[in-house]
Amino acid sequence: MTDSATNSLANQTTELQASGAASAQASGSGGAKPPVLFCDFDGTITLSDNIVAVMKHFSPPGYEAIMSDIVSFKKSLRQGVGEMFALFPSSMRQEITDFILRSAGIRAGFQELLDWCKNNGVAFFVTSGGIDFFVQPLLAPFGIPSDHIYCNGSDFSGERIEIVWPHPCDEICTNDCGMCKAAVIRRYPKEQFTRILIGDSITDFEGAKLVDLVFSRSHLTERCRELGLPHIPFENFHDIVHHLEQGDWRK
Ligand SMILES: [Mg+2]
Ligand SMILES: [Zn+2]
Repeated sequence: MTDSATNSLANQTTELQASGAASAQASGSGGAKPPVLFCDFDGTITLSDNIVAVMKHFSPPGYEAIMSDIVSFKKSLRQGVGEMFALFPSSMRQEITDFILRSAGIRAGFQELLDWCKNNGVAFFVTSGGIDFFVQPLLAPFGIPSDHIYCNGSDFSGERIEIVWPHPCDEICTNDCGMCKAAVIRRYPKEQFTRILIGDSITDFEGAKLVDLVFSRSHLTERCRELGLPHIPFENFHDIVHHLEQGDWRK
């Protein structure tokens, strides 16, 4: 067996142990804590990250330096995302929206997960670092109540696109998130809820540290491995329904 195959097996074992620990925790002792799901949008509900896709497609001069500063934590998400959209004139609103609506795909099983949550009385929140003008139209077919969708806002009244931040960090978070997933998660105390985060990347890093279980893809899987956070890698939402079905928290 090659070293990389051994490492891969070791990683799988860690993930299985983590998942076992999480479901044991979820079952609690005596009364089970109801799960609450916090689900990322870009690259999680959608197949790829729409902000990255917009920047790569239109390639406004200067975006690459800003994006690299975000990825290397030199710039906060709030500052970087604000600066990148300010590279566009507001008059491009329709063109950018059309591009996203045309190119974004929804990950398989999303409707199944929503149905499962409804049938099991489980609260489902979209916690997105994306922007309302594309998050809302892409989610419209799914009938998620608007107060269960957290994302950033936008203002096209000036010369350049301005991103606005209706859900800022609370007094505990110093990350300057823009849309603060940690602050949203903290409204559901761990003593009362089994908190589950679903995500893929940098906007999920802070929230992942708080929850009982992470369903992870991509960079978030690597991050969870590094930090030893309980996580289950997934490919699509059918996988997540499968794991939730196995959970014994409903007893
Ligand atoms: Mg994402
Ligand atoms: Zn924050």
